[in-house]
Amino acid sequence: MKKQIFHAILTVALSVLLASLVLIVGVLHGYFQDRVLEELAQSTAYIARGIENEGMAYLESSGFRGSRITWVDRDGTVLYDNREDPAAMEEHADREEIREAMLLGHGTAVRQSTTLAQKTVYYALRLSDGSVLRLAETQYSVWMLVIQALQPVTLVMVLAFCLALWLAERLSARLVEPINAIDLTDPGEELAYEELAPLVGRIRSQNREIRRQVDTLRQRQEEFHAITSHMSEGLLVIDRETRVLSHNEAALRLLGAGEPAEEASVLELNREGGFRRCVEEALAGHRCEELLERGDTCCRVFANPVEQDGALTGAVLILMDVTEKERRETLRREFTANVSHELKTPLTSILGTAEIMENGLVRPEDVSHFAGNIHREAQRLIGLVNDIIKLSRLDEGGPAGQWETVSLRTVAEGVLGQLALAAERKQVSLSQEGDCGPVRGVPQIVEEIIYNLCDNAVAYNCPGGSVTVTLSSGGEGERVTVTDTGIGIPREAQARVFERFYRVDKSHSSGGTGLGLSIVKHGAAYLGARVELESEPEKGSRFTLIFPKST
Ligand code: ADP
Repeated sequence: MKKQIFHAILTVALSVLLASLVLIVGVLHGYFQDRVLEELAQSTAYIARGIENEGMAYLESSGFRGSRITWVDRDGTVLYDNREDPAAMEEHADREEIREAMLLGHGTAVRQSTTLAQKTVYYALRLSDGSVLRLAETQYSVWMLVIQALQPVTLVMVLAFCLALWLAERLSARLVEPINAIDLTDPGEELAYEELAPLVGRIRSQNREIRRQVDTLRQRQEEFHAITSHMSEGLLVIDRETRVLSHNEAALRLLGAGEPAEEASVLELNREGGFRRCVEEALAGHRCEELLERGDTCCRVFANPVEQDGALTGAVLILMDVTEKERRETLRREFTANVSHELKTPLTSILGTAEIMENGLVRPEDVSHFAGNIHREAQRLIGLVNDIIKLSRLDEGGPAGQWETVSLRTVAEGVLGQLALAAERKQVSLSQEGDCGPVRGVPQIVEEIIYNLCDNAVAYNCPGGSVTVTLSSGGEGERVTVTDTGIGIPREAQARVFERFYRVDKSHSSGGTGLGLSIVKHGAAYLGARVELESEPEKGSRFTLIFPKST
């Protein structure tokens, strides 16, 4: 703005200056020329009177020094000239002013000198004898006047330049001050210049539009945040320079990272090679998928490039917690391996015994013994297959049993009745104490888990030992506690006994499948119950089932 004002002032000042110069020089020059002519006319008339009276003697005696005086005879011959020798001068009859004077009585002419700087003004007067007296005066030409004026004009121009600079500085500061003082967020009603009204009006309407857009954006962002924060999947949106544009809590949790700093790179959230590869692949325009393992958790990353108008602008990363899936996958693999192994042992035994019998290597009196072996192993196989079926049903969401109100006392009595023979063989006494309320559950599952606990309590007991089933009602729910005085379970094995096919000590194994406690754990979970274990090697174990109260 300052520049424009400066240019405007300077242009105006110079224009005025030049116009004045042209005008003054033009007017003055014309005026001076008229004055010179006037003076020449007077002087000519005066000298003419002298010549008329005294002739050549007047001219020769006077010795004129100022103007140039030329006296030309009527035929054009120069009779007298105060600057040059008349004899050496050419005829003057063709001179414009002389011709005019001869014709009209007087004549004037202005001729440029050989240099542009000067010009000569001539005035000629016809005398009574027909001769012509001419006076000439030199005068500065317009160009000379202009050149002479140049120095002061340049000075004035410099002054004008400085003045324009100073004025531009002050004016622009004064003009801009109220404009700068306008509050763009709320310009108010009072305006320093009414010319600003349209601009301020537009600012107001644009402010309204911006506020409306900001509100809409904020609302959308809040909606987006509300949706993404409730997602169990992690979401990361990044730009081409890997800067995090948007993230949710699940993403940070799955990557084990803290809140990223402003404009932080996504690679700072996780240093794993797989994660970096995913980001790089997505930013190279390819879809990528990787499995990240961090401690106990497994998470799958899906990275997709984001393109806009054919140009890659960033990437979206979705993270899914697949810990449970991976764990199930591992369990399934282990389970398959264990099942194959468990099935192979009795089948090998059956095959071997059958081969011996087939080849007639068994004496008739031993046949029943070998057949008994086959029977036992086959029973073990059936027991194993039955347990696997029970477990897989629980895995699939439970067997097709009806939920009913079940009396735990009746179930416990039934179980102890079934185990009476086995307990007698093992010289273990069975007893039942206390009472509790009924629970809601599937009767077959309730019976199965109490049976498995009591069966183990007898199987892992010592001769002369005891098994007590205690029923009680507590704040937490209905409790069934199976206490034995058997071999107990070492502390380090206590957490693992509920795993499939886990046995503390194969030599102490009751010949069970290793799936009994696993069925207890899954069955209890299916019924909404909980299992607790307390055990001390050589002293015995206590398994407690806590059922929720039936309402
Ligand atoms: P199993 O068919 O071998 O009995 P379980 O799943 O029922 O399989 O039990 C797993 C392991 O836990 C057993 O092999 C045994 O070592 C241990 N166990 C279970 N119950 C008891 C108990 N009452 N006393 C001591 N050890 C037990």
